[in-house]
Amino acid sequence: MPARLRLRRGLTVPASWEFPAYDVVVAGGGPAGAATARRLALAGHTVALLERSHFERPRVGETLAPSLQPLLRDLGVWERYCALDPLPSWGTRSIWSSAVPAEHSHLESGYGCGWHVDRRLFDRMLFDAAAGAGAEVSLGTSVVNCRYESGSWQLTCSGGRRLTSRVLIDATGRSATIGRSLGARRFAIDRLVGITAQWTDVDVTVERYLLIESVPDGWWYTAPLPGNTMVAMLMTDADICRHHHLSASKPWRTHLQSTTATALRVDGARLPTTPRVYSAASHRLIRPGDTRPWFAVGDAALAVDPISGSGVPRALRTAEAAATTAAQLLTHPADATPVTSYESTRNTECTTYLSTRADYYDAALPHPTPFWTRRKLGYDRPAPEPMRR
Ligand SMILES: Cc1cc2nc3c(=O)[nH]c(=O)nc-3n(C[C@H](O)[C@H](O)[C@H](O)COP(=O)(O)OP(=O)(O)OC[C@H]3O[C@@H](n4cnc5c(N)ncnc54)[C@H](O)[C@@H]3O)c2cc1C
Repeated sequence: MPARLRLRRGLTVPASWEFPAYDVVVAGGGPAGAATARRLALAGHTVALLERSHFERPRVGETLAPSLQPLLRDLGVWERYCALDPLPSWGTRSIWSSAVPAEHSHLESGYGCGWHVDRRLFDRMLFDAAAGAGAEVSLGTSVVNCRYESGSWQLTCSGGRRLTSRVLIDATGRSATIGRSLGARRFAIDRLVGITAQWTDVDVTVERYLLIESVPDGWWYTAPLPGNTMVAMLMTDADICRHHHLSASKPWRTHLQSTTATALRVDGARLPTTPRVYSAASHRLIRPGDTRPWFAVGDAALAVDPISGSGVPRALRTAEAAATTAAQLLTHPADATPVTSYESTRNTECTTYLSTRADYYDAALPHPTPFWTRRKLGYDRPAPEPMRR
């Protein structure tokens, strides 16, 4: 019997191990990872939450649905959220297949308004709330290697730091870095990207709604942000973006000027930054036949089209299921049922999502162009051939 070291909360590991042991390591400190870590820590488990960034750069996904309110309350972070002073959002205005805008008021939701937030601050708030619950958090840390041996995960992080855990959770977002390194595959639904920049000097007191406007190459999204700022984002497919050089400032601005209501929203505003491209591709992470104690949460497990406006609420909802599944795995390590059941629920969610997505895109065909006809075809990947009008 090797000598044993005593660690946090009574955990013991062989003395030959030089690195700390946790019940659960969560890789990725976005909303899904932070909420999962907070729930596990509150339940008394030892958790390490590793985040690659320092939350130093702007983040996308600024419009939060009213349905987020009960989720934040349940997570015990409602007061922290209100302290961020989010802008109330009264609803959505969409110019989709008709020139007449369709209005959807959040006030019909039963929870009151939605919000426009600074996502960097929102994500940081959740990350700090995980630390506040007792999770051991690290910024600027990514998992670069993971092996499962003798009933535990042996993880190497950037900078050479090493740790072990009994359960590993991939919360790395759309990249699903950990899951893919463990052999899981992405079922890709599309190759959507968002090309975004923030306009300043906008009077956001009268602009408290999300505007969606369809164009031949996709759709524009504009929303006010705290600090008299307006975020504008063109959603299109990666090959269309490349073909028309839409990530460069001039073509992006020219494209915006071709809109009607969107261009008016930023008329007279300043654009101090150049556009950035973010992946917004939908996928489901599939891990057939893998019985090791790991699984993915949030966008890493199932990433959806931002048109659904459900990304952050979905991340918090799956975090609850993920925390329950991890706790079950810790109690019955040899039982694969919790993960099978967790994955089966995600499969059902994916099926429901595909049908909702079809409702959004199939209801009308605003433009007879590749972006829109691809969506009419269902969830096939975009054709690889060059774009032609
Ligand atoms: C263009 C766009 C617009 C969107 N608009 C909205 C919107 O208006 N409303 C809405 O609700 N949702 C929106 N979404 C979706 C929403 O942002 C996501 O669903 C949500 O952020 C998912 O949270 P997550 O924690 O799963 O992933 P993420 O938010 O992506 O967080 C993943 C985290 O993991 C970290 N990470 C990555 N790799 C590693 C690694 N190897 N090790 C450690 N850390 C790592 C990242 O730095 C990041 O902090 C939008 C998404 C996109 C792309």
